[in-house]
Amino acid sequence: MMVRHWLAAGIVAAALAAATADAQRPQVASPRIYVFESGTIAGLDPALFNFKREELAHVDFVNMAYLIVHPRGTLMFDSGGIPDSHFKGDGSPVVEGVQTATKPVLPQLRSAGYSPGDITYFALSHYHSDHTGNANELAAATWIVQKAERDYMFGDPQGIVQPATYAALRNAKTKVLNDEDLDVFGDGTVVVLSTPGHTPGHQVVAVKLANRGTVVLAGDLYHYPEERTTGRTPTFEFDAAQSKVSRARIEKYVEDNHAELWIEHDVATHAALPKAPQYVD
Ligand SMILES: [Zn+2]
Repeated sequence: MMVRHWLAAGIVAAALAAATADAQRPQVASPRIYVFESGTIAGLDPALFNFKREELAHVDFVNMAYLIVHPRGTLMFDSGGIPDSHFKGDGSPVVEGVQTATKPVLPQLRSAGYSPGDITYFALSHYHSDHTGNANELAAATWIVQKAERDYMFGDPQGIVQPATYAALRNAKTKVLNDEDLDVFGDGTVVVLSTPGHTPGHQVVAVKLANRGTVVLAGDLYHYPEERTTGRTPTFEFDAAQSKVSRARIEKYVEDNHAELWIEHDVATHAALPKAPQYVD
């Protein structure tokens, strides 16, 4: 009897705790996107991307991460560059190589009403370190990853990589995709699209928003808008021919769906977007 009462009390307490947590989160009727800032990348040589300085409107990058909130759960896409743990907490900027950041990512997530442990799904556009900064913090979510990318990340990854920032994903609950797409919440409004080339298993996310229309979070499918018009690819693509196939596929998707394409590093795109706790829906 005592045990049963104790159990019942425990269940009620757990339900109350869950209800309290839910009450703090926005209840949404349709998907929304929160935009998080993770600093800038400056001093890049345009030649790395097969451009001359005068051919680019902006040479520097912004670093971003996104939270998609859906009535059935959440998807965090990318996690910033410099890890939150590298901030001193005194408001001073953190500079690491070409990256500079003035604010950590997770407080921006909290400003939207979510803790890292609340996130349902986590996806990276790809494994490069300017996207994996806080990946370990999101390892309680179900990780959506292409098999080719995961194999590469936990094999002998080369290039722009900080494996320590994503080590916890090795044991995360994982949804492995084989060069395939995933309708994340089952209603077609949030879809991970396989776009290999920049890395072995690069992926983008298409989100159908009730007011704004369809948005493609493009990761590093492109780095500069000028790549869309010239067809040029960076010098460090994993497979440039594959990138071109993926780009053609997404350009068709954008046209068919009258979608916006948000290039993750593009300064102009993100200067025009509201930042968390504001959102796009
Ligand atoms: Zn990048």
